[in-house]
Amino acid sequence: MDFAFVCWNCEADNNVWGKPRGFWTELYELPDEWDCWWCEATNTTPPPPWTPAA
Ligand SMILES: [Zn+2]
Repeated sequence: MDFAFVCWNCEADNNVWGKPRGFWTELYELPDEWDCWWCEATNTTPPPPWTPAA
């Protein structure tokens, strides 16, 4: 499932893939850091809850 985050640097919307942690769970595993697709700034994943991407 993708989660939506806003880049701290340029405010672009970024979708970050969250890997399901188990079959019957709604927990997802996201990378600690990801690069903005637009400005390539390194973003740190904030603590949950996260917003599912539309
Ligand atoms: Zn950015």
